[in-house]
Amino acid sequence: MIFASALDDRRTITDNLRPFADRVAGRSVLIIGMARSGLAAARMLSDAKARVFVSEAKDRSAVATQVASLEQNRIAFETGGHTMRGLDNADFVVVSPGVLSANPLVASARQRGLPIFSELEVAYWLTVGTVLSVTGSNGKTTTTAWLGAIYQSAGKSSEVGGNIGRAFSEFAANLTAADRAILEVSTFQLECIQDFCPHVGSLLNLSPDHLDRHGTYEEYIRLKFRLFENQTPADAAILNADDSMLVQWDKDRPTGRARRWWFSATGRVSPGVWLDGALLRFDTGKTSGVIPGSNNLIPPGEHNRMNAAAAVAMALADGLTPDEISSGLQSFRGVEHRLEHVADVNSISFVNDSKATNPDAVAKAIVSFDRPLVILMGGLDKGTDFGVLAPELKKRARALVFTGKAAPKLEVELGTEIPYRTVPRFDDAFAAATEIAQPGDIVLLSPGCASFDQFDNYEHRGRVFKQLVLDFAREAQES
Ligand code: ADP
Repeated sequence: MIFASALDDRRTITDNLRPFADRVAGRSVLIIGMARSGLAAARMLSDAKARVFVSEAKDRSAVATQVASLEQNRIAFETGGHTMRGLDNADFVVVSPGVLSANPLVASARQRGLPIFSELEVAYWLTVGTVLSVTGSNGKTTTTAWLGAIYQSAGKSSEVGGNIGRAFSEFAANLTAADRAILEVSTFQLECIQDFCPHVGSLLNLSPDHLDRHGTYEEYIRLKFRLFENQTPADAAILNADDSMLVQWDKDRPTGRARRWWFSATGRVSPGVWLDGALLRFDTGKTSGVIPGSNNLIPPGEHNRMNAAAAVAMALADGLTPDEISSGLQSFRGVEHRLEHVADVNSISFVNDSKATNPDAVAKAIVSFDRPLVILMGGLDKGTDFGVLAPELKKRARALVFTGKAAPKLEVELGTEIPYRTVPRFDDAFAAATEIAQPGDIVLLSPGCASFDQFDNYEHRGRVFKQLVLDFAREAQES
């Protein structure tokens, strides 16, 4: 490593200085990947007087917009494959979350002993803003956006980004010490941090994910806990008290030195936030009570109330008052494609949960409603077990409509217990769901599968679903 950890230096530097800016000016940096975060890092580092070279495997035509931006900013790059050109002079390497460790340049950088950092880490070097970060297996985007809504409604200056929306590098250098950077953070980013240190960090839950990339479940958990690695007693770590694996890990292998805060659906926690009937209650260790308006949340389901509890705990740990939290907590409508209410037609509600790409997310969706469900499932199977959903589906589903490549597997794993129809094309499957649904039912798109057999991505699938709902509503009005 060319940089010793400088955490203690950071604590003594005045807020007006970027904590680690001297690591950047005059240094040569190789950025691998020209997607959103790679491009943002290139611009930020170049503005901070680094000598930047960007290497992209895709052909120039596939990244034309990025190329135009780099040229405009006079940043050197290559497209259509990786050469050793950028590596030869590099002091360090920056990788985007999408760049696999199998990438040949990453492997060469490792061989040469060059430090490899995530875009999150280098953006952190150049900010004086206060960082609040969310990670976990499920609920990251929702919780991050909810926290953003709380800060916005409270009139506190903040920016939301990281793994959602804008890359941290797009705004890190512009923040003042009073500003909050509210960041969704993925395991891929945490894999390559060194000094990144959120003032408040939350680990929402753990369930196996991305094991193809991280090897063992243990390694995946260890990487998630790196969120807390550099924290001091002045910082806060917010943890899910109901996640036994997570609690045990924190007990056996505590990471960092932050004060622990908890959130729970099962009972009082201190300091922390817990669900009590329809309300969220809190105890900061100094004061306790009810969060005003917490019985009035829009996103459905207990899992969303747990996301809210985590966001509230983060805001309290950062010094917001319950009254300041209340307004944004209630006005937040949820994030597109996550249990998103689309419309009611002929007394049937249509809900878009296209982001539910694994059975765990489907499980959360089906227990979030107390009306009969007609569920549109299927897409590209990721080798998961749908059978675990059968007991709840038997209780709650009027019928299932299977579509896409996973349909034969869904028939085997769920079809023996629950009425179903298989309709290969997505639009025909939607029509079948509308035929089956009765007034008072919910037609729920919660695929439990990836989308790539018929769509570009889950957002595309969700948009197509919403258009089909709007068309159906128009036809219903005309007839
Ligand atoms: P992430 O960013 O971690 O993928 P999202 O907020 O985008 O999480 O939600 C992804 C899917 O998981 C959606 O289908 C959503 O309904 C579901 N979900 C949201 N919060 C939770 C949670 N706390 N536990 C389990 N599933 C959740």
